[in-house]
Amino acid sequence: MATETFLEDIDYSDAIKKQAMLAAIIDSSDDAIISKTLEGIITSWNQAARKMFGYEESEVIGRHISLLIPYDRQQEEDMIIDSIRRGLKVQHFETLRQTSDGRLIPISLTVSPIKSEDGTVIGASKIARDISEQVKAREEIRALNARKDEFIGIAGHELRTPITTIKGYMQLLEGQAESGVARDFLRKALRQVNKLNRLVGDLLDVSKIQAGQLQYNMIACRLLPVVREGIETVRQIYSGHSIELITPIEDPVITADGAKIEQVLINFLTNAVKYSPAAANIIVKVITSEGKAIVSVKDFGIGIPRHHLDDIFNRYYRVNPDQGSGGLGIGLYISREIIRRHGGDTWVESKEGEGSVFYFSLPLPG
Ligand code: ADP
Repeated sequence: MATETFLEDIDYSDAIKKQAMLAAIIDSSDDAIISKTLEGIITSWNQAARKMFGYEESEVIGRHISLLIPYDRQQEEDMIIDSIRRGLKVQHFETLRQTSDGRLIPISLTVSPIKSEDGTVIGASKIARDISEQVKAREEIRALNARKDEFIGIAGHELRTPITTIKGYMQLLEGQAESGVARDFLRKALRQVNKLNRLVGDLLDVSKIQAGQLQYNMIACRLLPVVREGIETVRQIYSGHSIELITPIEDPVITADGAKIEQVLINFLTNAVKYSPAAANIIVKVITSEGKAIVSVKDFGIGIPRHHLDDIFNRYYRVNPDQGSGGLGIGLYISREIIRRHGGDTWVESKEGEGSVFYFSLPLPG
C-alpha cells in the first residue's frame, strides 16, 4: 500500500523546519544567491544562479568566484572582499559578470558578510540581479534624449535666421516710421522679437551644453560692470520693477566669460520680475566672502514651495507647468551649467508667498 508523508507530519525541530523554508525561498528567488568563503570559494548556488550564469551547482561548488568575473574586472573581487572582511555590506553595485558561454550580463550586486555566532566574518552571501532590461531601457532613453537635443539644435538654427531678418527689417521700419503710433507698435513688436530671439538662444545653449560644445571665453575682468550691464538690460525691458544694487567697497576681479555671467544675472532678474507680479522691488547684492564673490537676486514675489526647491535647476523643470506664460524651464539649468563651468555654485532660498533669493558664487583668484 502506498503511503504519503506530508512535511507537517514529520516531527522536525523548529530549526530544521525554518532551514528547509529558507532553502525553499532561496531556491525560488529570481535573483542569483551565492555564498562564498572569505577566500572567494563558492559554497552555495541557487537555481537562479544556475539560470543566470549557466553553471550547474556541481560545476561551481568549491571553485573560485573569479570564474564569473570578466578578465578586466578581476580587481573588483579584492575591493568587495575587503569591505566584507571589515563587516561592511556592498549594496547595489552595478557591474558586469560572465556566463559559462562567455556572454557578459549587467547585474546589480549586493554582498553581505556572513558572521559566525561570535561575530567573526566567515564568508559572504551575494545576491545578483540581472539588470539587462533596465540597462537597455536606460540606453534607449539616452538615445532618444540625444535625438531630441539634436532636433532642438537644428530647429534653433533654422528659427534664428528668419528671426534675425525680421528684426533687421523692423529696426529699419522703426527708424522711418512717421507716426508715433506706428513707432510704438513697432517697438512693441520688436520687444517680442527680442524675446523670441532669447528663447531660441536658450534652446541652442541647451543643445550645446548637451553636446559639450558651449564655448567659454574666459578672461580676467571686474564683476561690477558685468552686474550693472545685466541690470540695465533688464531695466530697459521691464520698466515696471525697480532694481536696487548693493555693492561691496572693492570691485571683485574674476576670471570669467563676462557675457555668460551677465546672461545668468539677466536670467535670475527676468525670473524675479516674472514671478513677482504684485511686487515692484528687486534687490541685487554683491558681496565677497571666504575667497568667493557672491551675487544674489532677491524678489518679493510668489516664492517656491519647499518640495520644488531641489528640482528647479533641472532641465525643463517648472513649478507650475500648466500656467501659461512662464517659460521653457531651461534658464536656471543653463545658469547652473555656466556657473559650474566657472567653478562656482548656484542655490536658492525661498518661501512660498514671500519671495525668493537666487544666488551664484564665483571663485576669486587666490
Ligand atoms: P522658466 O523659463 O520657466 O522661468 P527657469 O529655469 O528660469 O525656467 O525656472 C524654472 C522654474 O523655477 C520656473 O518655471 C518657476 O516655476 C521657478 N522659478 C524660477 N525663478 C523663480 C522666482 N524668482 N520666483 C518663483 N519661482 C521661480
